[in-house]
Amino acid sequence: MAYVAPAGTRFRTGDLVAGLGAGLFKPGSREELSALLSSHSGQAHCWPMVSGRAAMTLMFSAMKQAAADPRRCEVVVPGYTCYSVPAAAERAGLRVRLIDVDPRTLDMNIEALRRVDFSRVLTIVTANLYGIPNALSQVEAVAAENRVFMLDDAAQSLGARVAGRAVGGFGDAGLYSFDKGKVITTIQGGAIVARAGALATAIAGKHAALDGAGFKDTAEYVVKLGIYGVLLRPMFYGVVQSLPGLGLGQTRYETVYPLTRYSTLLSGLALRLARRLDTINQVRIENARRLQAALADAPGLRLPECAPDASPVFTRFPVFVADARRRAPLLAALNAAGIGATASYPQALGDVPEVQRILAGTAEEQSGARAVAATLFTLPTHAYSPDDLASRVRAIVDQCLGHRAS
Ligand SMILES: *Cc1c(COP(=O)(O)O)cnc(C)c1O
Repeated sequence: MAYVAPAGTRFRTGDLVAGLGAGLFKPGSREELSALLSSHSGQAHCWPMVSGRAAMTLMFSAMKQAAADPRRCEVVVPGYTCYSVPAAAERAGLRVRLIDVDPRTLDMNIEALRRVDFSRVLTIVTANLYGIPNALSQVEAVAAENRVFMLDDAAQSLGARVAGRAVGGFGDAGLYSFDKGKVITTIQGGAIVARAGALATAIAGKHAALDGAGFKDTAEYVVKLGIYGVLLRPMFYGVVQSLPGLGLGQTRYETVYPLTRYSTLLSGLALRLARRLDTINQVRIENARRLQAALADAPGLRLPECAPDASPVFTRFPVFVADARRRAPLLAALNAAGIGATASYPQALGDVPEVQRILAGTAEEQSGARAVAATLFTLPTHAYSPDDLASRVRAIVDQCLGHRAS
């Protein structure tokens, strides 16, 4: 049966061949990718990395070095985000302080952020989940007032903007990811961007000391890319989903991963896709607009609010069920109809046992993050979404959550 994957980037076999070919034969693809991402983010420097989590780990250790204050051992993290964030903090020898999330916006509760005791904090990390920007100017102001770093995590929001400024470009440093299911993908990959200064010097030193991407790993990603590029198509995705080793749709707390530079080969493809960023995002934005229109008045659902000055790119389209108990049956019905709806991260970070071990101080109330984890689900927005996706979703929602079901 045709199955619309939860997230993904459509590319043609020609893109794969031309992109990898450029990476292999044309020197300078990685440098061009760096230049493009620096210019996009407005940050002076960029270092491509093997993955977003590796980029984050390196940045945390560079921040420790640049702060030169061993008391600064805490990272402030939203209570609902990718598990890779606290895992990278653990790998860098840091502890995590969770800020509750506002279920209306998916953003950190800014009042709770202002209440934090910053005396041991190294950096604040944003989330910008599903391509929807956080209140980044406000976070930037809190970081500046308290003289701590701000790391703008744009792993899911390359191309999104707030008041014209690129997400990932706020604060001292930012992060992009090219993993599966992100804005653009080469199966694995990521990049650090940072403004000029002591932090950039520390990052540059640590990046220069890294090994290049391993040949075996790169060869494996190329094979997976070939499979992914073809099988992301709805006609084939049912097969991909069941393939072992692709690791699709899993959320694991993982502190063991390669810490190397980005492969030159893959950077050719990343560059090719990054040059088409606006076109790629435009399709997702249009699909999200249709879902928004179809679901705005749907029974038993709520849509997240987006700040008026924010331009989201909707890597996925997030929706909340009013009644948490209705989520599992709704997801089952959507998936049975071939629509890749997912519950996203299974737990609020405060409820993840591995995170509980590295919490700094007593955990603040996490009721918002828990509510998000219990009621959120995401819908696909990528270019393989069929034109009638929104109306099909609406019909299933009416059937599962409408008066007929109650
Ligand atoms: C995916 C993701 C990361 C980590 O990026 P990888 O490239 O998968 O290691 C970090 N933060 C957020 C919010 C993410 O979604």
